[in-house]
Amino acid sequence: MRAARIPSPIVGAMANWQASRIKDPVVRLRFLRRTVGDRRVWDPRTETGRVWLRKRGVSLAVAFAALVLVPAGTVKSAGRLWWRGPILSAQASMQRPDTFPQVWQVDQQGEYETYSNGLRIERKYEVSNEPRQFAAYRRSAEEPTAKEDRTAPVGIVFHTTESAQTDFTEGETRRIRMIGAALLDFIQKERAYHYVVDRFGRVWRVVKESDAANHAGYSIWADDTWTYVNLNRSFVGVSVETMTQPGSSRAEATPAQIHALRVLTEMLRSKYRILSTNCVTHAQVSVNPSNMQAGYHYDWAANFPYPQVGLPDNYALATPSLWLFGFTYDPSLVNVTGEPFWKGLVLGAEQLRQNATAHGMDVSAYRRILESRYRQILSTLKSKTELSKEKQG
Ligand SMILES: [Zn+2]
Repeated sequence: MRAARIPSPIVGAMANWQASRIKDPVVRLRFLRRTVGDRRVWDPRTETGRVWLRKRGVSLAVAFAALVLVPAGTVKSAGRLWWRGPILSAQASMQRPDTFPQVWQVDQQGEYETYSNGLRIERKYEVSNEPRQFAAYRRSAEEPTAKEDRTAPVGIVFHTTESAQTDFTEGETRRIRMIGAALLDFIQKERAYHYVVDRFGRVWRVVKESDAANHAGYSIWADDTWTYVNLNRSFVGVSVETMTQPGSSRAEATPAQIHALRVLTEMLRSKYRILSTNCVTHAQVSVNPSNMQAGYHYDWAANFPYPQVGLPDNYALATPSLWLFGFTYDPSLVNVTGEPFWKGLVLGAEQLRQNATAHGMDVSAYRRILESRYRQILSTLKSKTELSKEKQG
């Protein structure tokens, strides 16, 4: 559900970094490579690297950007077509062929299903909604609204329920169960998510996989081939019963929830051949068309346990809304969300800049073209579940 809106905060050190350092990361990258020769020396993931960077006044963000740029070798701009440019980190990860888990259904009783990887799905709250029909937009097309109609989900959006919490102790079991049941009633009524993982790690199917759920509102994601706009129909909404801590982007999942997320993700990826890079958090996909800013909702802007869930660190992917459709972001978001989310935003902004250069345009003119293409696509999405219901987070 919706995390509280960001208070209008002071732009801090990280945003200052953005202004002062990212102006030309390619130049900075060249400097780093020339100076060091071996990127391991400045690898921001190591303590040695961080010390090295700090001494030279190089921000961690630039180092992270460089880190994903180097192996991908994508510094040179390509992009014959307007939205076909290099995908920085995404390209690096997509060069490895994705592997899909092998999971199958073992049993189905009245109110639950079991699967070969230990997943058990509770069906007590299962309901129907509008059928899952949507358009995938071809990224290689000259015509931005060229599309293919689909009915099978292509990704997963992870949410937090942002619901009331009580201490996770044995003595509170009854209350935890009561709160959880009330939450499921509400989510069922709203057709808010396909799946809810409760605090004990139980997996509840609410909206059927064959149908749309009102989980993502205005949202954008893309893989190597396709762009998806408004993900209620194209992505499966999986929500974790937890709450983002006020004033930060931190939510926690219990060990049981992390396990449940892993086996549920495996089952869905196996069943629908969902790319691992299409399993992302609401913060990464959420946009606000009225001010053209990304990150309207920011559940799981940080701290989503990607590795434990068996996924790559998808926080390192360049945010598609920025470079495909010219969205910007509120620098204050950086203060609230911390590093994982802004890494994607920074890379998205850099990708936009590179693509503009490749087209011989300045960024603002290029952005206007992208925005008008987004508006064109948006105007073709008329149905209720394709358009936004912003009360969910
Ligand atoms: Zn959400």
